[in-house]
Formats: sequence, structure tokens, C-alpha cells
Amino acid sequence: MSEHNQDKHKARQQKVKAQVDAKIEQAQEEKGILQVITGNGKGKSTSGFGTVARCVGHGMNAAVVQFIKGMWECGERNLLERAGVPFAVMKTGFTWETQNRETDTQAAQATWQQAKLWLQDESIDLVLLDELTYMVSYDYLDLDEVIEALENRPAMQSVIITGRGAHRRLTELADTVSEVRNVKHAFEAGIKAQKGFDF
Ligand code: ATP
Ligand code: MG
Repeated sequence: MSEHNQDKHKARQQKVKAQVDAKIEQAQEEKGILQVITGNGKGKSTSGFGTVARCVGHGMNAAVVQFIKGMWECGERNLLERAGVPFAVMKTGFTWETQNRETDTQAAQATWQQAKLWLQDESIDLVLLDELTYMVSYDYLDLDEVIEALENRPAMQSVIITGRGAHRRLTELADTVSEVRNVKHAFEAGIKAQKGFDF
């Protein structure tokens, strides 16, 4: 880089730093964050679990609720349970080809009862509500009740909701919303879900 370019680069970086510093200065509020991770691309649940790992890595407490028990063993669960993270997993193993609305509703409700307890527990810093969006879309859970529990949770508790097609009221309530867009997915090219990567 020429000296002239170096100077230009330095001036630009100083400007960026000043802007970032001003924003950091402005962000003074401390509170639990509600994040929604939605969209059709891959990476919603892995992102949620990444934040759980981050939380536990600081010696803080996280709890995980899985509203859809996948076809496969969950690698994250194997690891995180060893680290003392409690899991509530929906019993019937609801899948996309759900057959029985009544038993699914009962299972969703039972799982939600546990979720609600964690959403009232100040000692839990982070609650991951994995695939909750579908419970709302299928009407297995009452959206008003979900919103009430989220609104009344302990002030410092963070919550992550994952799943496609998040209801507008959930994204409106959230502080942070990320939409994962599908650019391409290995499955579309005929590649099977891989252990240690997809589950
Ligand atoms: P992951 O758990 O890998 O972060 P996700 O939570 O974003 O994925 P889900 O809709 O919960 O996505 O689907 C879970 C499973 O489906 C994973 O095995 C994932 O690889 C696969 N999957 C995710 N997105 C797609 C897609 N766009 N096409 C095909 N399969 C997908
Ligand atoms: Mg997922």
C-alpha cells in the first residue's frame, strides 16, 4: 500500500471507530434478550445451541426445550446434558408427518408446562425454545399464553425461539430477529443428513 493509501485507510478506520464507539456508548441498557431465529435456511437450531454453549461456557445456566424431537439422536443434547443443562423434549416425537392431532397437542402442552416453569425461574439465564414456531402455527399452543409467559419472564433472562414461519407477534415482541435464508442445501442435491453435522 502506498503511503497515501495508508493514510486514507487510517482516516477511514478512525471514522468507523468513532461511529462504533458512539454506538457502544449509547447502548447502556442491560436486560435479557428475546431472539427469534426463523427462515427456511439451515442454521437456526445450531445458532440457538451455539448461544447455549456460550452461556454455559461462562458458568451461567441454560435450559433447552425441544418441541420437535427429530428422527436422530441430538449431538448437542448428549454434550450439554453432561454439562448440566436440563432438557425438556416433546414426548411423542412429533414429525412433519404428524398423524394424531390430539396426542400431539397433549405432548406440546406437557412440554410447554416445563417451559413455563423455566420462564419463571430467575436462576435460568437462557431458555432455548427450539422449534416453538410450529407449535403456534399448528395451534398446539395458545399464542396469547406464550406471549404472556415471555413478557413476564425474569428481567435478565434471555430466550431464543427457533423455527420457520415465526408468527408476526413473536417477531414484533423480540429484540433481535434473524432470518436464515436458504441459498442452497446439500439435501436438495441428494446428500443425506450427516451425523455430527446435521444432527
Ligand atoms: P439446523 O438444526 O441444522 O441448524 P435448522 O434448525 O435451521 O437446522 P430445521 O428446519 O429445524 O432447520 O431442520 C432441521 C433439519 O433439517 C436439519 O437436519 C437440517 O440440516 C435440515 N434442513 C434445514 N434447512 C433445510 C433446507 N433448507 N433444506 C433441506 N433440509 C434442511
Ligand atoms: Mg431447527
